[in-house]
Amino acid sequence: MRKLIDKLEAEKKLSFEEFVTLINARTPELADYLFERARAVRHAVYGNDVYIRGLIEVSSYCKNDCLYCGLRRSNKNAQRYRLSEEQILRSCEAGYNLGFRTFVMQGGEDLAITDDMLVSVIEKIRKKYEDCAITLSLGEKSYESYKKFYDAGANRYLLRHETAVDEHYAKLHPSELSLKTRKQCLYDLKNIGYQVGSGFMVGSPWQTTENLAEDMLFLADLKPHMVGIGPFISHHDTPFADKPNGSVELTLFMLGLLRLMLPNLLIPATTALGTISESGREKGILAGANVIMPNLSPADVRKKYLIYDNKINTGIESAEGLEQLKKQMQKIGYQIVVARGDCKGL
Ligand code: SAH
Repeated sequence: MRKLIDKLEAEKKLSFEEFVTLINARTPELADYLFERARAVRHAVYGNDVYIRGLIEVSSYCKNDCLYCGLRRSNKNAQRYRLSEEQILRSCEAGYNLGFRTFVMQGGEDLAITDDMLVSVIEKIRKKYEDCAITLSLGEKSYESYKKFYDAGANRYLLRHETAVDEHYAKLHPSELSLKTRKQCLYDLKNIGYQVGSGFMVGSPWQTTENLAEDMLFLADLKPHMVGIGPFISHHDTPFADKPNGSVELTLFMLGLLRLMLPNLLIPATTALGTISESGREKGILAGANVIMPNLSPADVRKKYLIYDNKINTGIESAEGLEQLKKQMQKIGYQIVVARGDCKGL
């Protein structure tokens, strides 16, 4: 099986069958070999640097009803909030002073946040922080809306495809959402000029190895700048409350494969990974990840943005825990840097 890992590193691609074979054949020893190769590739492109992004969770309102997500509109127990422009700008200011040079505005698809409101806040951030990247992660919008945000100064957009197989997509989402639209959004974003992030959940209900192989082939085709993957974690107020969580082990393996397939990729060691394993983020970095996204949202709303159970929202996860995070990274031989952290190459 090492041969398939070597082939992926050398040729930057595998066939569907080869991905299925490799993923199914994984053992702890094979994973160690994969991570060693993934680190070598990562070091050649990004050295030991770890980029940080300040995550601002702008709204917990959502018009969608994704079956896995705690913010789904049917969840009457979800605590809803929406940040004001002033609150967002204050979060950016606090983040800038801490050394963040990327701000990520993420949220549910909140109908009360109009394009004009977003353009206004993007323009203000752009003007005040010329040296920073502005990232949006606000779900599916029209080409025109994406273009407006881009013209206002946004640089990057995160929109996970969630799963690259229609039948599987339909099991995770309500019927009004489709993989086709999701993909169209991703191609629109790329055409406009955004640095694009996609990604998928690992271990989501009914996911097969074949589904994961399709995720890899879709990403090989899309060639995004960033890919976020994290384990599925159940939320008690969703239809998937009783579904088992995804595993750290498989998430890390997929992460290593991604690094070999797309060497320049920005890969976050995600909050979900840090939630199901205390050392999840360090493990993610050691498997080839190079980005961490601490939470910059005002402290009082953090626990309300509950997309899954037990989401970490204090200590190391918060921006105040940055010093601790720096030490944790140093311990494993990596350093958090003050930089926009753009994708190298592509
Ligand atoms: N509304 C935005 C942001 C969604 S939250 C959008 O649609 O892009 C960001 C990511 O969290 C999602 O893309 C999804 O992959 C992940 N997520 C949501 N619920 C989850 C769960 N229960 N377990 C693990 N990850 C989850």
